[in-house]
Amino acid sequence: MNYDHLANQDPEVFKVVLEEEKRQNEEMELIASENYVSPAVREAMATVLTNKYSEGYPGKRYYGGNQFIDDVENIARERAKKLFSAEHVNVQPLSGSPANAAVYFAFLEPGDKVLGLKLDHGGHLSHGHPVNFSGMLYNFIQYEVDIKSGRIDMDEVANIARREKPKMIVAGYSAYSREIEWEKFKEIADEVGAYTFADIAHTAGLIAARLLNNPVPIFDVVSTTTHKTLRGPRGAIIMCKKEYASQIDKAVFPGMQGGPHDHITAAKAVAFGEALTQDFKNYAAQIIKNARTLAEELMNLGYKIISDGTDNHLMVVDLTNKGISGREAEEILDKIGISASRSTIPGDPRPPFNPSGIRLGTPAITTRGMKEDEIKKIAVWIDTAINNKDNPQKLSQLKEEVKEMCKAFPIP
Ligand SMILES: *Cc1c(COP(=O)(O)O)cnc(C)c1O
Repeated sequence: MNYDHLANQDPEVFKVVLEEEKRQNEEMELIASENYVSPAVREAMATVLTNKYSEGYPGKRYYGGNQFIDDVENIARERAKKLFSAEHVNVQPLSGSPANAAVYFAFLEPGDKVLGLKLDHGGHLSHGHPVNFSGMLYNFIQYEVDIKSGRIDMDEVANIARREKPKMIVAGYSAYSREIEWEKFKEIADEVGAYTFADIAHTAGLIAARLLNNPVPIFDVVSTTTHKTLRGPRGAIIMCKKEYASQIDKAVFPGMQGGPHDHITAAKAVAFGEALTQDFKNYAAQIIKNARTLAEELMNLGYKIISDGTDNHLMVVDLTNKGISGREAEEILDKIGISASRSTIPGDPRPPFNPSGIRLGTPAITTRGMKEDEIKKIAVWIDTAINNKDNPQKLSQLKEEVKEMCKAFPIP
């Protein structure tokens, strides 16, 4: 992109941007929630649409001059509807957590009972963790994965639902590598009279490509971020059945938010347009192939993967048998230019700040064009770094190798 004005006017900020750009170019991103947007998505974010106020919705704004903003919001809505087979879409949520806040606000009263997956079992803070607004405002009951299989035990979910009679059941996670049984969740919810809410923040791109089951036709309401596997700008959308359209729209505005970020709406529209193409479907298929290869290679090297593999873009590695914590592994990988995020494992005996595992994901490196051959090398680098954590010479040699590969696969 052209940074002429920024470079001339504000060298202090420009320097930071360049440093971060260099870091992204030379280092390898295995953080499962990150990705690289296309130049077209970046350009859309840097347009004059950022100057506009447009509280309200297309055709019903509280400010003048919104004829073109209406167009862009309608394009984004229509593309998202097509992408996920949604009856109604709200494209204004500013990010994943605010979107979830709007969903709860639309369906629940403070104190209502909700079922969500526990954070250290792969859930998200906004699914009822005590330090999050969700856990403070609502009465969350947490379900867990089966410790042995690493998978959600649907019989257990049914038992808890029958006992607790929640008003809403939340499914869709941040650190869960297996297909989710949406139909079964829906059956359980119908039996106990609960709303169904899917948060597909992580897997949206894979669902849009129809490589994972789509909850949108099954569930009452579905939220997703737009910046993870979907590869759009930072932001979120909410999809729902027609009958809930007006309560969702009211919850987003005026309930939770003021004016939408119209430049981001434009970038969402561009990203949805990209996600509708065959190229994106091929990309999403390669994400999964790469994740499976990484899981297999690591298992061959003696690593324990929660649930013994993956159906999607991520995996949680239990490092207990390697005598190293997740935080240590994160720090060692940082030394060789690989970014990963520490992660709890189900039933983790260690504290969340220094848990037993790391979470690895392939969306970003797949965007760079890396395939199975590169993944095999990456698995060996990870293992070699962990085995040579006290050998600075070895680590700096690995860092050079990582950098070499990154240079061969430039960011779009
Ligand atoms: C990432 C994530 C979110 C939150 O998104 P932010 O944009 O960071 O607020 C919500 N739910 C799930 C399941 C996520 O993985």
